[in-house]
Amino acid sequence: MTDPHELLVVNPATEELVATVPAASEDDVAAAVARATRAQESWAALAPADRARLLRRFADTVDAHTEELARLEVREAGHTIGNARWEAGNARDLLLYAAGGIERLLGKQIPVPGGWDITFHEPLGVVGVIAPWNFPMPIAAWGSFPALAAGNAVVLKPAETTPLTALRLAELALEAGLPEHVFQVLPGYGGTAGRALVEHPGVAKIVFTGSTRTGREVMERCARQVKPVTLELGGKSPNIVFADADLTAALDPFSFLDNSGQDCCARTRVLVQEEIYEEARAFLADALAAVIVGDPADEKTQMGPLISRAQLDRVRSYVPDDAPALRGSAPEGPGFWFPPTVLTDVPPGAPAAREEIFGPVAVLLPFTDERDAIRLANDTPYGLSGSVWTRDLGRALRVTQAVRAGNLSVNSHSSVRYWTPFGGFKQSGLGRELGPDALTAFTETKNVFISTEGPAQ
Ligand code: NDP
Repeated sequence: MTDPHELLVVNPATEELVATVPAASEDDVAAAVARATRAQESWAALAPADRARLLRRFADTVDAHTEELARLEVREAGHTIGNARWEAGNARDLLLYAAGGIERLLGKQIPVPGGWDITFHEPLGVVGVIAPWNFPMPIAAWGSFPALAAGNAVVLKPAETTPLTALRLAELALEAGLPEHVFQVLPGYGGTAGRALVEHPGVAKIVFTGSTRTGREVMERCARQVKPVTLELGGKSPNIVFADADLTAALDPFSFLDNSGQDCCARTRVLVQEEIYEEARAFLADALAAVIVGDPADEKTQMGPLISRAQLDRVRSYVPDDAPALRGSAPEGPGFWFPPTVLTDVPPGAPAAREEIFGPVAVLLPFTDERDAIRLANDTPYGLSGSVWTRDLGRALRVTQAVRAGNLSVNSHSSVRYWTPFGGFKQSGLGRELGPDALTAFTETKNVFISTEGPAQ
């Protein structure tokens, strides 16, 4: 039985208990929102350069603790140490990028008759961020840091399985000199603390990342208060590989195995032109066999475990033992291990080809021509990301225009970069994070008209 008052943080590679963390109640959420509301006023009133300086100091403090944060991520989330270092660096870099936006949060002067018209970007107040377990540090950062930069206070609820790096980030914020209660982290359960944050009338906006199912519920609750919400949800992204592509780069198995496939942008539908299907299958068979799966703290390891037993059971349910598949290997014994897998001979309408599995599992599907590739790519309720591989630039442009997804890459598997907007079409989400407009998403636009018509002289 789960104790509603505490969270058990388990190392997914060993199943050992890492920490026990108190779980926030509805009352704890209300108290945190009240503290945040008071702190936000003076935070927003700081001179822009001073707010920017504090966020840069926060970035320096994160930088000085990169290795510690990365080791914590390895223990609570089972991420490979190389990935975990990148994640801490991503949080640091986003702080610097957001700090750079504070003094450039410009309004407009709009030509109107009879006076002057000016717009202002005012902070919303208290922003609630609900983060998942798959990228605990980066996703907490993407929701929280631009919001802080725009003059808001943030209350962040991390996933119940991965609260430790978020808690440490909040400590580092205080160490760097951020005022108390401007950035609070409240570990807790989604159904209690998460829901209380969504429903609290003092929370002006919710940023939610997670499953489409929970995202829909969060949106419904926000709608009751007409509360703005950003949703970053699931994906089932295509990797479209034409016969003229550089196959070695195009079929990089880490396009779907990175973070053990627990990545909303994972290219889990490998669509290859039919004349190279057999070549692609042989290439992937060798590539999966070569993947080093094991202790995530080992520098040589390329893929770690899944986050939890529940996630392992979910992934297994999509891959029956007798399913036609290419398979790599995984450790035996304790830990939530699943081998790198590519399902072959799967009908495009089967659950494994349509639903987000969120594990190291892709499906390999053939297509005939450009039109067929676009049809297959769009044959999903999701629209988060995708890749197009071809040496024909005209075709690359036509296909990227036709695929209904928020983040596409040509001859690359890149997707989330803090310089560029990130978010989904269709049931992959609502709104955008990151990029040059990241701060604006945490403001209200106020328009002020100033009449120049005075009494006749
Ligand atoms: P959820 O969407 O349920 O969880 C995401 C976050 O929302 C967690 O912090 C969770 O808390 C919280 N939450 C849960 N219920 C509520 C609620 N009613 N109100 C407010 N917040 C809530 O994802 P799961 O962790 O259950 O994962 C299930 C599946 O979702 C995965 O297998 C994967 O397919 C998908 N997923 C997709 C992600 C993405 O980035 N696209 C990220 C994570 C999961 P708590 O941790 O306590 O549950």
